[in-house]
Amino acid sequence: MELAAKAGLQTLATRPFYEVVIVGGGPAGLANAVYATSEGLRTLLIEHHAPGGQAGTSSFIENYLGFPGGVTGADLTNRAVAQARRFGTEMMVGQPVMAVRREDPYRIVTLADGAEVSCHALMLSTGMAVRELEVPGIAPLVGAGVYYGAAMSEAALYRGQDVAIVGGANSAGQGALFFSRYARRVTVLVRKPGLSPPMSRYLVDRLEATPNIEVVPGVELSEAQGNGHLERLVLREVAAGTTRTIEAAALFVFIGVSPRTEAFLGFVALDAKGFILTGPDLPRDRRAWPLERDPLMFETSVPGVFAAGDVRSGANRRIAAAVGEGSAAIFSVQRYLQTV
Ligand SMILES: Cc1cc2nc3c(=O)[nH]c(=O)nc-3n(C[C@H](O)[C@H](O)[C@H](O)COP(=O)(O)OP(=O)(O)OC[C@H]3O[C@@H](n4cnc5c(N)ncnc54)[C@H](O)[C@@H]3O)c2cc1C
Repeated sequence: MELAAKAGLQTLATRPFYEVVIVGGGPAGLANAVYATSEGLRTLLIEHHAPGGQAGTSSFIENYLGFPGGVTGADLTNRAVAQARRFGTEMMVGQPVMAVRREDPYRIVTLADGAEVSCHALMLSTGMAVRELEVPGIAPLVGAGVYYGAAMSEAALYRGQDVAIVGGANSAGQGALFFSRYARRVTVLVRKPGLSPPMSRYLVDRLEATPNIEVVPGVELSEAQGNGHLERLVLREVAAGTTRTIEAAALFVFIGVSPRTEAFLGFVALDAKGFILTGPDLPRDRRAWPLERDPLMFETSVPGVFAAGDVRSGANRRIAAAVGEGSAAIFSVQRYLQTV
């Protein structure tokens, strides 16, 4: 928060009440903001870290409509922030929303510093985060040989070298195929005895048909070693408990994502993986949905509280999808506000 203040960013809400409060400033939250304020709604957006979310960290986005030559995540974010501000969105950056509650007709958010802001419609657009690998030696080597996800821009750095991948789902398979175009050898480390499932059969077949990919099942990473940069990985055989060491210049981690719903636990209904249920996906019983009317599109189990983007159960997890959901959700907000 202090950093945000030093950078001249707004860190406090200027009013106690807004018609709409948006939690999260990724593509979904920024689209919420542009569409809410362009419809004349008094809107506050609260972002924990920096606007842009996951998309803001992308080095080059090639599949976003309207940018045939691609666009960096930073450029797309700057444009969206400027657009939201131009329409009058208040944007608070630097502290998370810690809790939310309902005091009809208000929805109230509590910030990390204890301040509270109330609203009529609350939008949860908090996205998701990559799951971190909690293994000795990993943390100091992140960015120095250890990368989360398919770090496309890093692939060329490891041309002709040996790299490893942790994970057994489709994202790991796609990553392995991608890195096999650059690296001398790609070793895929999988804790389960085999790959399929959860990896799709077509990917397993392609991995098996690629000469410089080796899949090592039944192992888990027990340590990463290196002096300022990754050099070696210590592997533990799950069944035998024995350890061995392999050389690796880079490690790409694909062990899944987790929704950013920690502040909403027990408040809105979630699916088995912790993503927020909305609209027609809500179970049809009184405990999950309390009103006679049907939930609106993007409305959660709490009337007047909406969710959009990657945090929503069933979301497509793409930038264009998050922007589409973020803008469409405001239509539901407007319909809800007519009932308050
Ligand atoms: C490296 C990378 C590259 C990608 N490249 C592409 C691509 O090329 N094309 C594509 O279509 N998709 C891409 N994606 C996926 C895309 O970025 C996501 O689908 C999209 O960002 C989802 O948007 P969102 O707004 O729903 O969530 P997010 O982008 O996750 O944003 C959520 C925001 O909410 C904030 N937040 C969370 N909790 C709180 C809280 N309690 N209080 C306040 N703020 C909170 C977070 O700090 C974050 O800024 C990429 C993802 C990554 C990680």
